[in-house]
Amino acid sequence: MSAELVEARPSTTSGRTSTPLVVAIIGAGPAGIYAAEALSQHADFPVEVAVIDRLPVPFGLVRYGVAPDHESIRSIRNTLERTLERPSVRFYGDVAIGADLSVAELRESVDCVIYAYGAGTDRRLEVPGERLSGSIAAADLVAWYCGHPDVHPDTGPSTNSDHLVAADLEQLISTSRHAVVVGVGNVALDVARVLVKTVDQLEDTDMADEVLDSLLRKTVTDVHVLGRRGPAYTAFTTKELRELGQLPDVDVIVDPADLELDPSSQAVVDQNKVAARNLAVLQDWAARPLSGASRRITFHFWTRPTVLTGSDRVAAVEVERTMINSDGFVVGIGGQQTLPADLVVRSVGYRGLPLLGVPFDERTGRVPHAEGRVIRDGGFSPDEYVTGWIKRGPTGVIGTNKSDAVETVASLLTDLHSGALQVHGRSGKLDRLLEERGIRALGMPAWHRIDAAEMKLGASHGRLRTTLAHRRELLAAAEDNS
Ligand code: NAP
Repeated sequence: MSAELVEARPSTTSGRTSTPLVVAIIGAGPAGIYAAEALSQHADFPVEVAVIDRLPVPFGLVRYGVAPDHESIRSIRNTLERTLERPSVRFYGDVAIGADLSVAELRESVDCVIYAYGAGTDRRLEVPGERLSGSIAAADLVAWYCGHPDVHPDTGPSTNSDHLVAADLEQLISTSRHAVVVGVGNVALDVARVLVKTVDQLEDTDMADEVLDSLLRKTVTDVHVLGRRGPAYTAFTTKELRELGQLPDVDVIVDPADLELDPSSQAVVDQNKVAARNLAVLQDWAARPLSGASRRITFHFWTRPTVLTGSDRVAAVEVERTMINSDGFVVGIGGQQTLPADLVVRSVGYRGLPLLGVPFDERTGRVPHAEGRVIRDGGFSPDEYVTGWIKRGPTGVIGTNKSDAVETVASLLTDLHSGALQVHGRSGKLDRLLEERGIRALGMPAWHRIDAAEMKLGASHGRLRTTLAHRRELLAAAEDNS
């Protein structure tokens, strides 16, 4: 038994010791914060939870993924903030695990770690021409309009063609009329909606000033949304889909022939309420006469891109019709067509990235686990857990992360009670390590100063909030000048 080990069992209200369980959570998005909430609600033993994020601000995809015009979803931030304010929870912003500290060093500083660092990259189409200028990942566009500091660098344009920055995206949207969005999930809807909305319709959001300025120069009039399967197989939620039909001066175009159901599609619609509701919305649009609006969103089902064409920049997308074969695979069946496109946005899902020192399954893009217990070298690792997208893949709405975190924390608590997870008396060890390294973590007081600065900036132009998009702005606002 290690000299540090003070107790192999949790403190209980009956046999309480003051030795807390010290947990580090990597990632301050909803997955990580829901795990902190589940841990801090267990009053039968003392716990200290460090929620660590490489960004100076918390909230992950609630701040940098949920569309700015979805304020009611973004307001989940208030609940997440309350968790970070709990006495047993601390936020450590601007600390990059894997760069400032290694995973091994972090594991040595706490009793256990929960990985909650999400899915850091996008999936590709794997079609020729995908790397042409003008072919972009939805993730980059979303990060841009949400004001993510990675896409709004403090200095200079990007030299990395895989990751576009603000200047690249501004240039593309101000020179594009026809956009093709590939994929029929909620991110595709967000992208299509933001691409057709006018700045007037986005001014009441918290978008950064420079994003709104760029959107003023947006020239997009037509967005084509491609679904490689039929209307029974969309990944949208109905509320988000319906919203497109309510946009002023936008026609939503659906070919009624695309909505005819083969027996398999009919069976899906019969069993799946969301699919049935989505189909009803699409049928309503297909029956509507066009209004002659100045912007259009056109859905193309059973359609997939085969090649992106253009010389230095994408100019068109060649598409083909598809069907599902008897093995359940999507296959092309000819019917080629050319869609003009100055902008192609792939919105075909996200993918987890490996973090040095953490087990990773390349095939699934996830950390291997069972009920949130990380599997390392073929067995359960006694001090590692996982939750959120890096655990289950990039699926579900924000609330899905709550039940996911509850499952992981239940495993952790079971292990604590069985003695598989041990308490070592490591309170304060992480702080000492950070101090030795000269790493200054930004806590909740810093977040409150950033929050106040964003609200003040917003109020100065009659808005509720204006996002600070650059790291230097966030760090300056975080400073305590009192
Ligand atoms: P998603 O829901 O997984 O949708 C991905 C879409 O891409 C699917 O339609 C999929 O079609 C298609 N696709 C995948 N590979 C393709 C390929 N090679 N060619 C053509 N199409 C392809 O992913 P997402 O839209 O990125 O959203 C991620 C998660 O965040 C989801 O759980 C989503 O609900 C959530 N989210 C929620 C909201 C909200 O609630 N407002 C907003 C944004 C995101 P197949 O089905 O045929 O594979």
